[in-house]
Amino acid sequence: MSPQNEILLEVKDLMVFYENAVAINNVSLRCQKGKITGIFGANSAGKSTLMSTIAGLILDLKKKEERKGGERISWFGEIKFRGKDITNVEPFERASMGIILCPERRQVFPESTALENLKIGGYLATKEQARTSLEYVLDLFPELKPLLKREAGFLSGGEQQMLATGRALMAQPKLLLLDEPLLGLAPSVEARLAKAIKKINEQTDITVVLSEQYARPVFPIIDHGYVLENGSVVLDGTSEELMNNPDVLSAYFGI
Ligand code: ATP
Repeated sequence: MSPQNEILLEVKDLMVFYENAVAINNVSLRCQKGKITGIFGANSAGKSTLMSTIAGLILDLKKKEERKGGERISWFGEIKFRGKDITNVEPFERASMGIILCPERRQVFPESTALENLKIGGYLATKEQARTSLEYVLDLFPELKPLLKREAGFLSGGEQQMLATGRALMAQPKLLLLDEPLLGLAPSVEARLAKAIKKINEQTDITVVLSEQYARPVFPIIDHGYVLENGSVVLDGTSEELMNNPDVLSAYFGI
């Protein structure tokens, strides 16, 4: 396979259960290196579960539930990153391999300043990498420059999303997982963020997987998309293929 077509992430026949309820049902997907893959689906379709399972956070959640005698979380199938099976690799190890999740609803540290949030993101980076990444983040999001000393909890939703994306970039991602990055943002801010995500992908060799409930704002920037319904992939295709499918347009893209 030529390097241009290299598959960075492959998910094969993945099933995830919360107790007996299936959240991810036999999902397979392939994300090409250097491209943007979209995962689309309504509320509860399974987007966040899929993202946490790829990032490995589901392992932590499983342990936490077991400790408190809560629900049993289980999964089957395979997740491969750069050809290596990582299905049961711990999340911190996945992060050091370059799999970095920017979680749903940003989850910035509200009482730390914006700069501290960014520095926390750079904990895996060398000093030199952290310096270069910080410069890059502030170049990508100049809006953050005057806010660096402000507590993150006081920033607007759009500013927090820029901060959370910047924090993820500070962690030196090879695969950047963005879980609903546009959630709750005004349309002009959505467009600003979508443009920045495209820019990251064009200017760096970072591969992006992003999930969204509404495809319209990110549709122009994705290379390939998967549509999830009740935990299953019901459709997939290039952005062009999805865009030319009238059922897709009305049912999933609100167009
Ligand atoms: P949203 O857009 O609302 O974030 P989503 O597409 O990200 O939704 P998930 O949050 O992955 O979907 O949820 C998929 C299914 O798994 C839903 O039925 C949800 O109720 C269930 N689920 C998610 N997290 C848990 C959990 N910790 N315990 C039990 N069930 C869960």
